[in-house]
Amino acid sequence: MQSYLELARDGKKEMWEAVQLEMDRRKTFAEKYNISKLDYATVDNPFDGRVICGHCGSNFGRKVWNSNNERLRRIIWRCNKKYTVKGEKSCENKHVDDTVLYKAFVSVFNEMVENKEYFMEKWKVGLQSENFLIRYKTKQFIKILKNAKVLEEFDIDLFFRIIEKITVFEGEKIIVTLLDGIEIECEIE
Ligand SMILES: [Zn+2]
Repeated sequence: MQSYLELARDGKKEMWEAVQLEMDRRKTFAEKYNISKLDYATVDNPFDGRVICGHCGSNFGRKVWNSNNERLRRIIWRCNKKYTVKGEKSCENKHVDDTVLYKAFVSVFNEMVENKEYFMEKWKVGLQSENFLIRYKTKQFIKILKNAKVLEEFDIDLFFRIIEKITVFEGEKIIVTLLDGIEIECEIE
């Protein structure tokens, strides 16, 4: 039997290991998608470095479409390879409204809540993973979902705790990838 102190120490060690692995994961992710500012995502801009082009695999960038009419002002995300140097082939993926990204998260999260049993079954596998970080995230997911209720609106804290990336395909569908690698598809209305 472990003493309480030993358990606490193991808990801390586990946490420390998870933090190191999470830093590695972010670094690998940022290198893969050529993202330089993954840690700069903020409350106003939770999607920075997390929206990926399903067409060419680049990172999506945020763009504000201004208008004199405030109601027509829009924030969109589009592939960073949309307009490249003249003569080079640019990416033809369509842009996506940021409202779609907010909605996609809410719909994915609610799908998880409504299909709790299904996800809990999937996470039983995650708990056995060789990968320490996946085991750690899986435990967190189970904790989050256990008492979760459907969301009425975007929740930034849940977003950062659950989502690795959102991949956009031709303005038709998006695939939301959870931090443990599970992918959930959403149609774009
Ligand atoms: Zn692209």
